[in-house]
Amino acid sequence: MTNDIEVSVRSPQAYALAQEALRLMEAHGVWPTPLNYELWLHVAGDPSSSLSQEILRLVNAGETITEEISESLASKFILRMKLNDEVRDAGLKLTRELASITEVIGEAQKAQRHYSQTLQAAHTDMAVDVDTGRLKTLVNELSTATQRVLQQHNSLETRLSESSREVSRLRKHLDQVRMEAMTDALTNLANRKSFDEALDKFCESESEAVLTLAVIDIDHFKRFNDTWGHQTGDQVLRYVASVLARMGRPPRLAARYGGEEFGMIFPGETVDTVERLLNEARQEISSRVLKRRSTNEDLGTVTISAGLAQRDAGEDAFDLLDRADKALYRSKNAGRNRVTCAPATNQKDVTAA
Ligand code: GH3
Ligand code: MG
Ligand code: MG
Repeated sequence: MTNDIEVSVRSPQAYALAQEALRLMEAHGVWPTPLNYELWLHVAGDPSSSLSQEILRLVNAGETITEEISESLASKFILRMKLNDEVRDAGLKLTRELASITEVIGEAQKAQRHYSQTLQAAHTDMAVDVDTGRLKTLVNELSTATQRVLQQHNSLETRLSESSREVSRLRKHLDQVRMEAMTDALTNLANRKSFDEALDKFCESESEAVLTLAVIDIDHFKRFNDTWGHQTGDQVLRYVASVLARMGRPPRLAARYGGEEFGMIFPGETVDTVERLLNEARQEISSRVLKRRSTNEDLGTVTISAGLAQRDAGEDAFDLLDRADKALYRSKNAGRNRVTCAPATNQKDVTAA
């Protein structure tokens, strides 16, 4: 739940918000399951959020909100909100852990200072003549002070090793959260954020190195969704993603750039090699007759179009993406189901069907 909604459900308008969520669910024929209730609280509380917009788009298009659709929406949108909460929680725990370590170290320093003072006093006492009785008392005092400092050291050691275990647990958790934040939940490919970061990093650090960029878009996907439903559309997205993921193993990178669009980076590879690879993927996808998993119903085929651009020396990510996008646009205009390479300087486009 977003912070805003989290606050609203504990505010004076909470019951009005709950009633509005129920009213909307009833009006759209959606069962008030706990998951739907959480989703529709967002629609009632923040109709402009991307989750609300997506739900409203679906119901306005006449789509029935099945349990699967709700789950897919929750994994796509609520997961992201939860990730933010998890990062915040892990951050708070780390801060608390550090505060407690600082406190323990402070106490150990205090004990250490006290011990030094005791030693100093004993040293001063022994500098003058002392009788056996006084010597005995001094040794006892020193022994007690040494014991106390040893105990402090032991408890500091235990506390520090507990803390280091907790910190490494939190670090692993944060790594996991970071990984999820860079991954597209539907297809498991890298998401747009990690794609943009990888491309920027490459262009900034390797100013002269060769790289080919591909943008890939599923053809007429709206029509496919309208015919077979959003959920089946999601399965097709996963299928196309799996073909691209196989081709995009490191050091290459395959990402879901948004909607039904994918981006791929091929470091060190020229446009000729990438054109051949993408045509293979394009042919593989277009030759596969898709079936609906639940009913084995024949869904026909889908095709993809792609645009490629090989980076000019020193070219930045923005210009490179722009050239690849224009090449994709040409693939679409030339009839779809094809790969178009952006022209090298002073050359014309090459389109291969
Ligand atoms: P074109 O060949 O010109 O690319 O046509 P298109 O219909 O694929 O393109 P358009 O941009 O008109 O529509 C894209 C569609 O992709 C609209 C939307 O229903 C669908 N889409 C976007 N994201 C998702 C998603 O996460 N799941 C599903 N099932 N469909 C999606
Ligand atoms: Mg499309
Ligand atoms: Mg598109």
